[in-house]
Amino acid sequence: MSARIHKKRQSRLLDGRLVSDFLLTRVSHEVKKLHKKKIFPKLVIILVGKNPASLSYIRQKEKATQRTHIQYEHLNLRETIATKKLIAIIEKLNRDKTVHGILVQLPLPAHIEAPLVLRAIEPAKDVDGFGAYNLGKMFLSMDFENLAPCTPRGIIRLLEYYKISPVGKRVTIIGRSNIVGKPLAVMLINRDATVTVCHSKTKNLASHTRTADILVAAVGRPKMVKADMVKKGAIVIDVGTTKVNNRPSRSEAKQIVHLNSLVGDVDFENVKRKASWITPVPGGVGPMTVACLMENVVRAARRMNM
Ligand code: NAP
Repeated sequence: MSARIHKKRQSRLLDGRLVSDFLLTRVSHEVKKLHKKKIFPKLVIILVGKNPASLSYIRQKEKATQRTHIQYEHLNLRETIATKKLIAIIEKLNRDKTVHGILVQLPLPAHIEAPLVLRAIEPAKDVDGFGAYNLGKMFLSMDFENLAPCTPRGIIRLLEYYKISPVGKRVTIIGRSNIVGKPLAVMLINRDATVTVCHSKTKNLASHTRTADILVAAVGRPKMVKADMVKKGAIVIDVGTTKVNNRPSRSEAKQIVHLNSLVGDVDFENVKRKASWITPVPGGVGPMTVACLMENVVRAARRMNM
């Protein structure tokens, strides 16, 4: 991949919109090649209920399928559906040879046993990469990261695009979730980085962040990473997205807190002066996640037809 950096605008921005656009174009070429072989990659997204945030994430994924010519079906199931019934629907999709990717939009309603539901997805169609089989395979080596979770994959793709090598770098990740922090740590270890993973029980968080060549924040606490927690010249990747709906107070109004805006975990305006590279929110990791989901669908379709 080649870096087309727009120096005049933001020379140090890791631009997720630009790179996701590049990836989606590449995916769409791959889909066209598969179409010629009579393979029609198809993604099915299951939503239980009508969570507005989930609907908005699904709309972004649907747009990306349109852009890449991936076939798409949205199953919107009633809020009260039982775990058993939901699993039966997934098992039917597992058997359907025209379906290559199955994604259950999280969070699920509280009465549904989410681990059982995620376990029901056939590993070859687990395009979110959240199942134990695909997560476990990543431990073996980089060669086995077939259906890796999309957000960590998106971060790796962003680094690749800008030719930022993780080899020998000290990486600190704040957050140890199964969908971001932990799989990203494994992927970066697979790429020869030295990784520290921090969480809510970590003592003296700043002592870990200040030594990082690459700092990743995946917490969900707006602007928690301040400039004095960042090493000069560090690469800063902000995964956090928190919707801010409150009318800002007078002092907040002077900062960049807008109504209904998405706010990251990093105090962007101050940290950008210290970092060498930084992702914006929105427009950083978010679009990369969606693009990598499309990559996973195509990868699943190709592997199923090998
Ligand atoms: P999560 O499951 O809630 O995990 C949050 C992590 O942050 C946990 O490991 C938690 O520690 C840690 N944490 C909480 N408070 C902390 C503190 N004060 N200091 C240090 N660590 C702390 O969240 P997630 O699903 O990983 O998501 C994290 C953020 O990324 C959210 O804002 C989410 O919306 C966003 N996200 C964005 C994308 C995207 O595509 N842009 C994708 C996924 C997630 P414990 O483990 O000790 O509780």
